[in-house]
Amino acid sequence: MVTRYMLGNEAIAHACCEADLDFASGYPGTPSSEVIDTLRIQKERDFYIEWSVNEKVALENALGASWTGVRCLVTMKHVGLNVAADPLMTSGYTGIKGGMVILSADDPYAHSSQNEQDSRNYAKFAKIICLDPANVQEAHDMMKISYELSEEFLLPVLFRPTTRICHSKSNVELSPSGEEHRTGQFEKNPAQYVVIPVHTRVLHKKLNEKQISLSKRLLELNLNFAEIRGKTAVIAGGIAAEYVKEIIPDDVSFAKIGAYPINREWLSEFVEKHEKVLVIEELSPVIEEETAQVACNAKIFGKINGCVPHEGELDQASVALAFEKAGIKSKKSFDGEIQPVTGLPPRPPILCAGCAHRATFYAMKKVFGKKAVYPSDIGCYTLGIQLGTVDTTICMGASITVGSGIAHSGDDSDVVCTIGDSTFLHTGIQGLLNAAYNGANMTVVILDNRITAMTGHQPNPNTGLTAKGEVSPVISIDSICRSCGVSFVETIDPYDLTAMLNTFKAAKETKGVKVVISRQPCVIAARRQGIKRRAFSVNTEACIGCGACVKFGCPAIEFYDEKASINELCSGCGVCADICPKGAITQEVSK
Ligand code: SF4
Ligand code: SF4
Repeated sequence: MVTRYMLGNEAIAHACCEADLDFASGYPGTPSSEVIDTLRIQKERDFYIEWSVNEKVALENALGASWTGVRCLVTMKHVGLNVAADPLMTSGYTGIKGGMVILSADDPYAHSSQNEQDSRNYAKFAKIICLDPANVQEAHDMMKISYELSEEFLLPVLFRPTTRICHSKSNVELSPSGEEHRTGQFEKNPAQYVVIPVHTRVLHKKLNEKQISLSKRLLELNLNFAEIRGKTAVIAGGIAAEYVKEIIPDDVSFAKIGAYPINREWLSEFVEKHEKVLVIEELSPVIEEETAQVACNAKIFGKINGCVPHEGELDQASVALAFEKAGIKSKKSFDGEIQPVTGLPPRPPILCAGCAHRATFYAMKKVFGKKAVYPSDIGCYTLGIQLGTVDTTICMGASITVGSGIAHSGDDSDVVCTIGDSTFLHTGIQGLLNAAYNGANMTVVILDNRITAMTGHQPNPNTGLTAKGEVSPVISIDSICRSCGVSFVETIDPYDLTAMLNTFKAAKETKGVKVVISRQPCVIAARRQGIKRRAFSVNTEACIGCGACVKFGCPAIEFYDEKASINELCSGCGVCADICPKGAITQEVSK
């Protein structure tokens, strides 16, 4: 046993190696991405690993591998579970063979997400096991237990860390990586793996019959436990249980829920020993609803009566406030704690200096104007909202589909969608196929930076590398678009402003679906690969202080004393030089 200071996601990845992982797949999404990123670079254990093109594909891949008997991991962020929901909902029926863990990382407070959905609801819906760690060490330990439980009950386990667990660092006790390597062998079993109605009805009954023994096993493993200390009780789950432990008085009973399904008999027995029960958990009232259903005499406090917020993250202070609202005196007071500083100027996130997306947005706006509708998608380019070129964003791949709906609505505005290469391959293709087939009049701009940038530069089929860094054929986005039925497909360099403007003008004048592929590697990825462009600077003699370059929004451009200047962030894209009406911006001469 060794102790190492590590990130939650690294601890989870290490636990998978300790548990003899044979197969890993996933789609990047904050806060889950570092699990696969850690697994793909670790040297202790050799196994198959891939970045899949979306979460549904990742889960189905892992399910197939599990049916051959190998141990599998599939990772995603919480909204990715929506994409994978179709196979997820039937995976409990078919069951698994080799242990299978579906990691769905939740993001309370929506630090980098479009919603705050709670993956525990999916586990309940699919009637599969869910483990909900409270700290980094527990995340490590629970991941190992997940594989045992999965194989004991022949069910996938939904593993649900939250952002605070994934991205916190802590000392973690680790064991060596496992040495068992299984070789997959698929054994035909149509009654189990072919969900025709006659099989499904039997499989559903079997799944239901597992629920009680499963909930009892979670108690035996001490994943759910209770301590009776008085007539008042607090029940908490996930990271909230850690906050509760720090402030709960000695005469208040405590129950911790780390795993689902909760055994109802046990919960009822605990609740009825108390007059008052406060339930504390982040996001959905999953524990609270179960508690309210079993309570006969005890008064229940929680989200239902406003003691605990329904949204956002909890912390010690908000948990102490919940105690106060429920009439429980917490052990620690938070009066006089350091308060956040207020009144600071807002610092919205912006695209990097030299980001090709900025140049694309600029040209789009120039040609299509303010009145055009700009549906966008999930990726760095959502930051185009600062440039007035993002009017809608809902979920992966929805720019083209939402745009198609607007185009068919009778609104005669130009519709110009933006979508990244990774998102296009994830769920954008079907939207384009549908738009072309049904004759939408719209322009689709594929912001092709050849990588999945926002989540940490993971490769995708457009990068030409696998998760392990092996060379793989680069797919042709141009050919995909043409085979979807689009005849106007143009690929342009966003740093070539004139060509961009001309291409967008041609798209505006053409009816039907037009695709413009704006291709330039991510500026950060390019720099890491050693691509360097000479920086630009402003000739203050020539600068008339018109501010046209400043409006472009590059963080390398500053404005002092009625003149523009360029700072050290400049990555040499040259677009501002094309924008300047006086030719005052020029590339520096190499020294
Ligand atoms: S050339 Fe201009 S737009 Fe490009 S990174 Fe430098 S300052 Fe920014
Ligand atoms: S666009 Fe040219 S002239 Fe106008 S402020 Fe910038 S550098 Fe000066």
